[in-house]
Amino acid sequence: MKLAGKVALVTGSSQGIGQAIVIRLAAAGAKVVINYRSHPEGAQETLAKVEAMGGQCHMAQCPQSQGYTVQADLSSVAEVQQLVAESIAHFGQLDILVNNAGIENHAPFENVTEADYDAVMNVNLKGVFFATQAFVNHLVATQRTGKVINISSVHEELPFPNFTAYCASKGGMKMLTRNLAVELGPLGITVNNVAPGAIETPINTKLLNDPEKLAALLHNIPLGRLGQPQDVAALVEFLASSDADYITGSTFVVDGGLLWNYQEQ
Ligand code: NAP
Repeated sequence: MKLAGKVALVTGSSQGIGQAIVIRLAAAGAKVVINYRSHPEGAQETLAKVEAMGGQCHMAQCPQSQGYTVQADLSSVAEVQQLVAESIAHFGQLDILVNNAGIENHAPFENVTEADYDAVMNVNLKGVFFATQAFVNHLVATQRTGKVINISSVHEELPFPNFTAYCASKGGMKMLTRNLAVELGPLGITVNNVAPGAIETPINTKLLNDPEKLAALLHNIPLGRLGQPQDVAALVEFLASSDADYITGSTFVVDGGLLWNYQEQ
């Protein structure tokens, strides 16, 4: 049980990658805070999956449930701060922050509105910034070390036309990670990015329902399949564990080889 005694907050864990991360961290012994914005039933489903693992957490060590759900909109700094405070109040501490919640908006650059831009940046970058700040303030106040794991994207490197705000947010996340790794290293706080390629989650529903686009994408993935949320969660578990104590400021790509698959036709 590599994460026994640890408490993790995973933002946006009512479905998709966030849900898989929660389940993986809980299976490794961590207590988990499940955050959602608009799908309480999804958060309840995540919680039920954690509780169904049952025997992983011996009752003497875990008198309360191993999971706890909190509604918060990551685009609001006040709600982000409340989310971190409520997590600490419930479990008494936080050791791991997984900044997973993220959204995208498809529009040609000329048509992107201020509201579209703000929606993406506020969740993907501002929310991450202030969630991390609240987490770090807690670690400093309690004189403990901790781990920040950001769910970025191959699009922190790779252009994606018609998704410019999304790419800018993930590029910003890359520099946030590098900067904080340097600034927070002396405090024993590590900061790393996990950069998924194409993962089979609801964010890709449109693509999954378009056989032509899907076939073209699969053609570009050397391993010949979409990623599964578990493919990402396995790496997050490693980065959250003490096995990764000497790793900070890095991005780890989970994409079946997509990023480097340029071929001359
Ligand atoms: P998803 O299936 O759409 O799930 C997104 C999650 O984020 C949901 O739990 C949602 O909660 C939550 N969320 C959205 N806006 C929120 C807000 N304002 N406040 C709090 N929570 C919010 O997405 P996913 O595919 O799992 O993606 C997770 C992360 O991986 C994102 O950062 C995404 O950019 C990144 N990523 C995904 C892929 C991919 O192919 N799937 C590839 C690269 C990177 P509610 O539903 O309850 O609102």
